[in-house]
Parts: sequence; C-alpha cells; structure tokens
Amino acid sequence: MTFPNPLDVREASASRQGSDRAASSAKSSSAKSPVVVEARKLSLIYPTADRPVTALSEVDLTIARGDFVSLIGPSGCGKTTLLRVIADLERPTSGHIVIEGMTPEQARLKRLYGYVFQAPALYPWRTVERNVMLPLEIMGVGRAERQARAREQLERVGLSGFERKFPWQLSGGMQQRVSIARALALQPDLLLMDEPFGALDEITRDHLNLHLTQLWRATGKTCVFVTHSIAEAVFLSTRIVVMSPRPGRILDVIDCNSLPRERTLDIRESPEFAAIAHRVREGLKEGHSYDD
Ligand code: ADP
Ligand code: MG
Repeated sequence: MTFPNPLDVREASASRQGSDRAASSAKSSSAKSPVVVEARKLSLIYPTADRPVTALSEVDLTIARGDFVSLIGPSGCGKTTLLRVIADLERPTSGHIVIEGMTPEQARLKRLYGYVFQAPALYPWRTVERNVMLPLEIMGVGRAERQARAREQLERVGLSGFERKFPWQLSGGMQQRVSIARALALQPDLLLMDEPFGALDEITRDHLNLHLTQLWRATGKTCVFVTHSIAEAVFLSTRIVVMSPRPGRILDVIDCNSLPRERTLDIRESPEFAAIAHRVREGLKEGHSYDD
C-alpha cells in the first residue's frame, strides 16, 4: 500500500508532456476574478506503451466563483484527468486553461486549491489532527497556527473530539471528512474533490452530502466535484457537467437553479429534482457506447 502525499502538488505527474503551457501569457492578477476556471478546447492524450489514450477532447468549461460544479460521466471518461489538469497535476496536450487569471502552475504554487482524493490517503501513524496539519507543516506554517487551523476545520466537518484518534479508529465516512478538513485547512479558494464518497454506503453518503452542501454554503468556496452518482450530482450542484465516454467531451451543462440554494435531503422528492436527474440521465444515455 502506498501513501501518496495528499497535498503534494509541487511535483506534477511524470506523465506530463512538454507541450504548450497554454495559459502562460495569462496575467497574474491578485484581484479576485468572478471566473475561477476557464478551459478552452482542452485535450489530453496519454502516451501509453501500446497506443495513445485520448482522455479529454476539446473540453470547454467555465466555472464561476462560488459555483458547485459536478463532473459526471461513466468510468474512464476523463473526470479525474480534468480535475488533475485544473490542479496542474497533468498538463493538457492542447488547449487553454486559466485558473483565477493564472496558469494552473501559478495557481498551484499559490495553493489556490485543496484536493480531496477518492481514497482518504491519511497516514496511519499520524493522529487525525496531525494528518490535517501535515500540509501546513510542509508549507512552514507555525505550530500554533497549524493546530488552530486544524481544529477549526475538524470542527467544521463535525470531528471535534477526534483530534487524537488515529485514522484506523475512524469509519470510512469520518476518514473522508478528515481529508476534507485537511484540504480546507489550506484555506483554498477552490476545492477539488474526486469521488470523495464513492466508496461509502448510501446512508453515510446521504449524510455526507448534506454535510458538504452545508459546508459549501457556509464557506462560499468554489467546488469541483467528480461523481458518477446522478442523485449526488443533482443534490449538491449549482451546475452539472455531463461527460461522454472516453474521450471525455462535454455533452451537456445543466443549471440547477430551479432547486433552492439551501438544500435538505427531502428536495430529492421534488419534481424539480426529478427533472434535472432525468436530463442528466438522458445526457449520459445519449453519450453511451458499449464499445469499451
Ligand atoms: P475517470 O476519472 O472518468 O474514471 P480518468 O480521467 O481516470 O477517468 O481516465 C480517463 C482515461 O485515461 C481512462 O481510459 C484511463 O485508463 C486513461 N488514463 C488515466 N490516467 C492515465 C495515465 N496516467 N496513463 C495512461 N492512461 C491513463
Ligand atoms: Mg476517476
């Protein structure tokens, strides 16, 4: 088992290609732009031993400040790849991407985002609190502030009292909340989440969805959330991006503003919820092929 450094975003993936850093001419303004992510004609081809794999094809996407955007699509359609391009963990083969007026690399170096992985990726020999503090330690944040930030975020995700526990003493859902607290402790503008609740049972997932929507409202963060659950996408999002099977293209972008901003689980019974879920399902059906 390996333990990826959860927020080790200084060294990007070895699979990067030395192609155009599209946004290199972007201005590095410190004023907060209303557009957080702007991608134009983004394509990414992974060079593999047998044949190149086109993971993304001409993706256009704009994410506004405060949006909660879900990326939904079948397994292997390029959702993680798109998230990793935003995070500067993969470099696009072609196209442009700008994060808050900066290149993804500049945004990464300014630690504009926190990243929550599919698996919680916690270090078993560190307590919950020391896991949350780790990226801050790497950044050179002083001990008192590290601890204060860790405690604040653990409280936010409902884990006060668990600071001194070890990850293996926590349930899967609690571990994922620790990894969300760890990402939030960086005080990022942008929270990138890759199927954070994918491995959890439905009841726990419902609970965490509710928790996440409350957290999003309270913090006003811009979120990009990868899922393959239609219900989860509709419940959480202000906009849903429906992707096609590989190579990932955007088939539909659905506004969820017919749903209230403040959401409780019972909105899932509403006709508005059903209408959006139906449109997502239609989009996924349209893009589906059984060739893979
Ligand atoms: P998703 O997150 O939607 O399941 P991914 O973005 O992980 O999809 O992958 C998209 C496609 O790219 C898949 O076919 C996957 O096998 C391929 N892929 C992902 N990462 C790599 C890599 N590092 N090298 C080669 N192929 C990759
Ligand atoms: Mg994935």
